[in-house]
Amino acid sequence: SDKEYRCDGCGIVIQTEDPSQLGYVPPKVLEEREEVYCRRCFRIRHYNEIAPVEQDPDIYLHKLAEIAETDSLVVQVVDLFDFSGSWIPGIHRHIGKNPLLLLANKIDLFPKSTKWGKLKDWLRKYVKELGIYPVDIILCSAEKGIHMDEALEAIEKYRDRRDVYVVGTTNAGKSTFINRILKEVAELDEIITTSPYPGTTLDAIRIPLDDGKAIIDTPGIVRKDRLSEWVRPTDLHVVIPKQPLNPRIYQLNDQQTLFFGGLARMDYIEGERQSFVCYVSNHLYVHRTKLQNADAFLEKHHGKMLSPPQDPAQLPPWKKHRFFLPGHEKQDIVISGLGWIACGKEKGLVEVWAPKGVQVVVRPAII
Ligand code: GDP
Repeated sequence: SDKEYRCDGCGIVIQTEDPSQLGYVPPKVLEEREEVYCRRCFRIRHYNEIAPVEQDPDIYLHKLAEIAETDSLVVQVVDLFDFSGSWIPGIHRHIGKNPLLLLANKIDLFPKSTKWGKLKDWLRKYVKELGIYPVDIILCSAEKGIHMDEALEAIEKYRDRRDVYVVGTTNAGKSTFINRILKEVAELDEIITTSPYPGTTLDAIRIPLDDGKAIIDTPGIVRKDRLSEWVRPTDLHVVIPKQPLNPRIYQLNDQQTLFFGGLARMDYIEGERQSFVCYVSNHLYVHRTKLQNADAFLEKHHGKMLSPPQDPAQLPPWKKHRFFLPGHEKQDIVISGLGWIACGKEKGLVEVWAPKGVQVVVRPAII
């Protein structure tokens, strides 16, 4: 028939011709089933196996640019664990004159002692510097169902009988959030495929609202400058945290080094003794050593004790980033997709090594 089917998992248009292409479903399945999942989503759901997809970031950006032409509310989901890495570059151009509601997701990863009001102020200041003035910022956890009511109420309030576009980079938790909405609103469970693998939602999904409008889930924007995009799928569970972060505190003298598995390294070159608090996945091995011994240690243990990766050649060679700690206010050094290191209040010189292409930046302390 001429009817267009879409995958209930990722929203891509279903095709029955070419198994090697996206959206493939065997013709028989399409006839027999009420729910259809493309081969890729089927695999993710059933075998936790991922078929690599060729994604053209430009196509996704074009889709975003269409939003500027609409009259709608834009809901941007960001990942608090990787705030700058989950930001959509140039978002203000894409949304046009439409209001933006910010959903700061994954608060469940933050320590219980976090001062949420301060965190919100931090976010507001951060996005203001990017020229963004959100109508509201909701701190939430889509996965744990924290503050979902607030998020839905804010959407209802600010959409004002308009369509809602949900945007975000891959892995921010957009699909998980959409699933939540479906669950709470329509009592449908787990309709959209979520997975820790980047790029699961491939095409737009529409959730009809009772006034004829809709919530439109857009494809995740791919950002390649995050370490989590580079590690093997089998190593993602070591890198992407699932439990609240146990901050790991190191009092370092200068000329000391921290290794983050075999993925990155921080050398404290110069400065007074001070604390470096590591906010990385609890499963990631952090090793302290003297700077003097660090090269030899790496040489000997890279891919073994210092892993992931199992094979250092899987990742681009490391590039060095230098940071001067100003001394008066606390700074975080962020290794995108891996986490951050909260530095103490002493002046100092730090060098961070991470695979070339991964964003490494410094920011005022988030907590
Ligand atoms: P999408 O690419 O933006 O659609 O992201 P997904 O919804 O597929 O989520 C990406 C990963 O983040 C998955 O491993 C989710 O389990 C995880 N995730 C989503 N929401 C949360 C959250 O609130 N807290 C935590 N800790 N993880 C989350």
